[in-house]
Amino acid sequence: MAIDGPSGTGKSSVSRQVAHRIGAGYLDTGAMYRVATLRVLRGAVDITDPVAVADSVRGLPVSVGSDALVEEILLSGEDVSAEIRGDAVTAAVSAVSAVPDVRSALVEVQRALGTARERMVVEGRDIGSVVLPDADVKVFLTATAEARAHRRNRQNIAAAGGADDYAAVLESVRRRDHLDSTRAVSPLRPADDARVVDTSDMGFDDVVQLLTELARENMGAAL
Ligand code: C5P
Repeated sequence: MAIDGPSGTGKSSVSRQVAHRIGAGYLDTGAMYRVATLRVLRGAVDITDPVAVADSVRGLPVSVGSDALVEEILLSGEDVSAEIRGDAVTAAVSAVSAVPDVRSALVEVQRALGTARERMVVEGRDIGSVVLPDADVKVFLTATAEARAHRRNRQNIAAAGGADDYAAVLESVRRRDHLDSTRAVSPLRPADDARVVDTSDMGFDDVVQLLTELARENMGAAL
């Protein structure tokens, strides 16, 4: 099952919950681009230099767990699951993920991981269109920029020491949308055969229920 869409649509929480409900493994491909970005930042590489970025990410020693309810993201064996969600990585990840050599290297790993188990929920931006075009179910979750910024801002406030700055969050959401949807390689857009679900006015449980039903209808009667 491919679940794509921009950030702030509730995509990660929904994907994990759906995977758990249908007994599937889970792969967060955004986390892989974030780990690549962390490696680039730690190496003090110029993120505007695609050749240097690609060199820094070659043979990336990343390991991501496939358990929907346990987040395990390792870089050279070090748990980086918190650090990859920080501001520094978030600000740089669009530039790193726009480098074609970075994408081709990670897409290869994602295909292998995404087909490793009989049933997988794979979450990202280009899963239905590029990584797993033969997925049984393709969903594109979307929501207005304002709805997504409100959700992200609420998460920030809830986090330890988090700030309340809706305007800055909205600006960051728009900036990332623009970069992700205008890049030359795999721009963010729904696959032709994806079911587009606008979550702006939907509750978390309703989205999970809808996607679980889609999985049940399309991933075999045994579910
Ligand atoms: O999903 P998340 O917000 O963690 O993804 C971080 C970034 O990684 C996105 O903004 C996008 O630039 C990139 N990404 C991507 N393709 C994917 C998943 C994420 O380009 N399949």
